[in-house]
This record gives sequence, C-alpha cells and structure tokens, in this order.
Amino acid sequence: MEGKAHKPSRKYRKLLCQEPFLSRSGDRPAQVLDWCRWFAREGYGRLGLPPSKGGDPFEFQCLGYELGLFDFNLMMRFGLQFGFVMRAVSRLGTDNQQFWLERIASMEAVTCLAMTEEAHGSNVRALQTCAEYHPETDGFVLDNTAPGAGKVWVSSAESSDLCLAFAQLRVAGSSHGVHAFLVPLRGPGKALCPGIRIESMGESGGLSGLKYHRLTFEQVQIGREQLLSRHAELDRQGRYRCHLKSPGHRLNALLGTLVVGRGLLSSGAAAGAKLSLSLAVRYSVERRQFRSPGEILERKLLSHQAHQKALMPHLATLVVVDAARRTLAHEQHDYFEDSLKDRKLETFTSSLKAYTSAFAAETARVCRECCGGSGCLVDNRLTGLCRDLDLFTTMEGDNRILNLMVARNLLTDYQRGLDRSRLLSALSWAGKSVNLAARTSLNTRKTTPEEINSRNFFDKALRYRVECLRFSLARRVRARLEDGLDVYDALADCQDHCLALAHAYCEEKIYRCLRNLIESSPPGWDRRLLERCLALYALSRIEADRGWFLEQGYLNARQSRTIRNEVLSLSAEMAEDALTIVEAFELPTQWIACPMLEMKQDAG
Ligand SMILES: Cc1cc2nc3c(=O)[nH]c(=O)nc-3n(C[C@H](O)[C@H](O)[C@H](O)COP(=O)(O)OP(=O)(O)OC[C@H]3O[C@@H](n4cnc5c(N)ncnc54)[C@H](O)[C@@H]3O)c2cc1C
Repeated sequence: MEGKAHKPSRKYRKLLCQEPFLSRSGDRPAQVLDWCRWFAREGYGRLGLPPSKGGDPFEFQCLGYELGLFDFNLMMRFGLQFGFVMRAVSRLGTDNQQFWLERIASMEAVTCLAMTEEAHGSNVRALQTCAEYHPETDGFVLDNTAPGAGKVWVSSAESSDLCLAFAQLRVAGSSHGVHAFLVPLRGPGKALCPGIRIESMGESGGLSGLKYHRLTFEQVQIGREQLLSRHAELDRQGRYRCHLKSPGHRLNALLGTLVVGRGLLSSGAAAGAKLSLSLAVRYSVERRQFRSPGEILERKLLSHQAHQKALMPHLATLVVVDAARRTLAHEQHDYFEDSLKDRKLETFTSSLKAYTSAFAAETARVCRECCGGSGCLVDNRLTGLCRDLDLFTTMEGDNRILNLMVARNLLTDYQRGLDRSRLLSALSWAGKSVNLAARTSLNTRKTTPEEINSRNFFDKALRYRVECLRFSLARRVRARLEDGLDVYDALADCQDHCLALAHAYCEEKIYRCLRNLIESSPPGWDRRLLERCLALYALSRIEADRGWFLEQGYLNARQSRTIRNEVLSLSAEMAEDALTIVEAFELPTQWIACPMLEMKQDAG
C-alpha cells in the first residue's frame, strides 16, 4: 500500500544495506556525521531544496522514513541539516541569502539549531537570547549570558560550523520579537569564533548517537546580513520593516519552518512502531506458552486473546498512521513554496507528530512487554526502541503544547488572527457546523454487530466526536470571553477540553487518510486486510473513549458491549494475518535480526 512511495523507498532501503552503512562504529556521533557527509557528496542533501531549485519534498520524506527504520540518530542529523535548516533559509531568507542553501546541501556548512533555552523551550515568543543592532558596526551583538537564556539541547553543536539561532531582535533599546539568524560558530582552522562556548549537556536517556550541547553567545558579533530577512528587514540606519501584517504573522511564519522537522519526526516514530511490531509479531507467532489439557503443543503467544488485544489494535493503528504520513508527505510537497497559505498543513503536521510519537512510544512499550523476558534484553532491541521513542514525544515540540496549538487552530481561522471579536464570530460558525453533525448522527441507533462494524458507523461516530468537542469547547471559550477573560485565559481554563479535541481531530483525520486510500486503491491491493485494519482502528479508538461516548448519550451500554466484542473478534481475525502484514513491510532481515527471533522453540 505504499503507492508512489514504494519505488523511492526501496531504492533508499537498498542503499542503506550497502557500504558505508554495513557496520556501526563505537564513536556513533562521528559515524552519523560521516554518513550525513556521504549523503551530501552523493547529492541527496539537495532533496531538501525547494522544488523550484531542484529539491523534492516527497522523496525527502521517503528517504527520511527509511533513515528512521535504519537509525533514528541518522534520521535526526539528516533532518536537521537538510530539512529544518534548509527549510528555514529558503522560507525566511531573501533571494540574496539563498546561496547558503547549496553550502548546506553540500555540507560545506555543517549546521545546528539553537532555539530552546534553559528557561524557555515551548514558549518561543519569550526566548531571551538577544541580538542588538549596532549601526556603527552595521551588525548585531548576540548575547545569552543572562540567567536562563543559555541555549540548550543544541544537537551536534560540537561538529557544526553554522548555527540557526532564534533571538530577540533589538534596535536602539526596543525589541521587535524573535527572529532567525545564521551565526557562524567557527573561523579559520575550525577554531570557535570569539565569544562562543559549547559545553556538553551530559548523557541523554535515548538517541545517544548524537551529542547535545549548551551553547553560550557572549557578545558575539555578526553582520547585518546574518538576519534571515525575507519577512522583516533592517536597513543600515537601523530602520526596521516587517513585510507581514503583524508581528504575530511574522512569528507564525518563523515557526512554520518547523513543519519539515515535525513531518520527519512522525515518519521516524512510525518507523519505530513498525520495527517494534515487526519484532513482537514475529516473536509471538513462534513463541509458545500454555496449553489446554487436550492439546499436545503449547499455544503460540498470538493465539491468546489478551495478546491479540494488546498487539493487533496497535498493528491496525500503524497501518492508519502510515497512510496518514504518506498523505502528509504529498501535502508537504504541494505546499512547499507557499509560506502563508499552509496553516491547515501546520495543524495536520503538528497533530500527526504528537499522535504518532505518543503512539510509537506506547507501541514500543507494549511490544517490549509482549516479548516477556526476551524483550528486556538489549540485543533484542525493544528496550532501545522504548528509550529512543520516548524522546520523540518531547523534541520538535512537546506533544501537549502541540495539541493545545492544534485545538486553538481548530477553533478559529488562524490566518485572520486570534482577536476577541473574530474569535467570537468563528465560534458561532463552529456552533452551527456541529448542530448539523449532531442532528444527522445522534438519531442513528445501531446495535447489531454488522451495523456497528460498518463504515457508516465509524464515519459518523468519529466525526461526531470532533464536532461535538469543538462545539462544546467553542461554547465554553465564548462564555469566558463574554465574562471578560482574554483569549489566553479563556483557553487556559479549558486545556483538558482542548487536548481531547486535538486527539479526536487527529484520529478522525488519519482514519479518513486510510479510508481514502482504500477507496482509491489499485487492483492487486489486499482490500480485505486494509478494510479490517480500518475497522479495528476505528472501533478500538471508539472503545478507548467509550466513557465519553456514553456520557454524551451517543452510545448506550449495549452498543458499548458490542463494540468491545467486535474489537476482540477483529483482533483475533487480524492475528491470523499478522505475520503476512509484517512480512509485507519487507524490512531487510539484518534490520530486525536479533537473538529472540533465532531462539529454538519447544516442538512439543
Ligand atoms: C533529543 C532532543 C533533541 C533536541 N534537539 C534540539 C535542538 O537541536 N535544538 C533545539 O533548539 N532544541 C532541541 N530540543 C529541545 C526541545 O525542542 C524542547 O525540549 C521542547 O520544545 C520542550 O521544551 P522544554 O524542554 O523547555 O519543556 P517545557 O516547555 O518547559 O515543558 C515542560 C512540560 O510542561 C508542560 N507545559 C509547558 N507549558 C505548558 C502550558 N502552557 N500548558 C500546559 N502544559 C505546559 C509541557 O507539556 C511539558 O510537559 C531537543 C530535545 C530533545 C529531547
């Protein structure tokens, strides 16, 4: 079911099964950097260029996904260099600054990102690193020596010579907000430039093939041309001009550059879930435990109902997430060069990053547990996957923060800004749309297993949840605004509700990705299997939130029981095909080889 992605994906997979990727050295950060240089030499870094300059965002995402299957650290290093930083330069830089792109693509400039600070990670608007303009030198002085302003979590700073730094732009004592600067870290002979200090942050709990640093700028001088100034510029006299409607629009354009990195993290997380499930399913169809008195052989793990229930809904979700990730790669390709019309894409990307990374972390943990003691051995890889995937939920945007942003975007027309009067009118619209959804859905009282296990039921139930949560959130926020609260406090008072809405939105959106894919599936695809994945995904999601559906009166107790039984029987049916599904992933044997899959099982 990979469609257009199949060919590039297999090409990159083959590439990663050859030199120089055949062995892993002790110095992982150095090897990861060498591998990145190899990609740059072979021209793959250019995939990250805008399409008009020869890049290919779709292929970039395909390669990123394969890198995730091969090595998360390489995927991150590759994504940072050729994804995030290149995207920032192409989107935020002027035509005169685009020359950097070729230098970055070829790794003549090795880059890192300095956004997060000790005191501020999620709240980018409040960053404290300061870039003060000095007309007498026609340049900025960068400083972050104030308490809490030090840049932290700067991945791979030790091997970088150029840093994309986010800092407050100040001119003659007044601040114009956070802007992006390209800061050279090293001069001739690779010595650090004056005022720059790089210190290790210590060992991270996962993704240890990269190093993480604290970066200090102490009165570092850079030229005026180092400000990425497509949306806001500063002239020789220090006159500041923003080309966008408002400082809010400019900050959004800046944060919009995170889209590529978040897309890649979704791919990496999905790759991690795929590896975890490939290991656990293969183990579960071989390993035997317990038998009934009449049986000769003990039963395979995957024939036990509890094991099926633990693994199969995750496998179905993986298939759905994979369809969503590919839809996103197509959308990113189509939107690549449009800097302001892609709010919807940002909402989808952030939402998918949060959902997929949380799903992958949970999947790895469940798979680890489903392999018993074998799962606890480092050589069997699942403990490492658990450690690494856990970090995905925080980097490139903490999941909770991303989901709060998604809910806020869903409430209002982000493009027009989130002021009180516009929010109030947007909320009236949200109210109308849900009333319609509720009317068409609430009066469907389906109870038989056939009625419950149907597309019609899934479509309506998942849609109803989004619309209902959006409507009730809109109503609650509106009431608070009318009571005089500002937008921030009104939303802050309903955070739990916002998170539920963001979650429901993502589940419905990605459900539709697989549904659309099935509808357009070419002959030769196993529609039966895909339909089963869709059904198990939808019903297991409704089951997981059945408390809410019951509260709303959308489901009654009988329907709820039917759903629970359907999830069990779909899980049992899917267990029959589980090995076929993981084999269809076509992962190279060496990527999943581990002692537990070699273990001899008792033949009886
Ligand atoms: C492996 C790894 C690599 C990284 N690489 C880089 C890099 O190369 N460059 C870089 O700049 N950064 C990098 N980061 C940093 C990462 O982007 C930040 O850690 C992340 O954005 C979260 O910021 P924080 O650590 O300040 O957490 P905080 O923002 O302090 O959040 C802490 C907790 O508080 C919660 N919280 C915060 N605000 C709110 C709120 N308003 N409402 C409700 N809950 C809230 C969050 O949900 C979270 O649970 C990396 C991080 C990791 C783990």
